[in-house]
Amino acid sequence: MKPYKNKINRIRSFALALIFIGVVIMYIGIFFRSNEIVMLIFMFLGMLAIIGSTVVYAWIGTLSTRAIRVQCPNCGKHTKVLGRVDMCGHCREPLTLDPSLEGKDFDIAYNKKVKHEK
Ligand SMILES: [Zn+2]
Repeated sequence: MKPYKNKINRIRSFALALIFIGVVIMYIGIFFRSNEIVMLIFMFLGMLAIIGSTVVYAWIGTLSTRAIRVQCPNCGKHTKVLGRVDMCGHCREPLTLDPSLEGKDFDIAYNKKVKHEK
């Protein structure tokens, strides 16, 4: 199973990956120089990935303002918590804002539960 990461960090690495994918797609497009239409399609897809990445970055910006800054009890560093449960961005210590979940094992499903209750 994949280890959980701090949500904001995870989204940020996703945005970074999108830029990388966009550049790779455009680079592949160069190999199809002889076929203009194929090259244009690759360029377009690459641009789309990069635009998508800037959108994700803008989204992180709004998420960060909504996230609550807390001091991690484990490493003492400040980290941003998103949702009911999240991970410390520095040491991956599970953190919760809900006192009823304190002491329980970290479970990403607590976030999904909240959505259903709405
Ligand atoms: Zn920590």
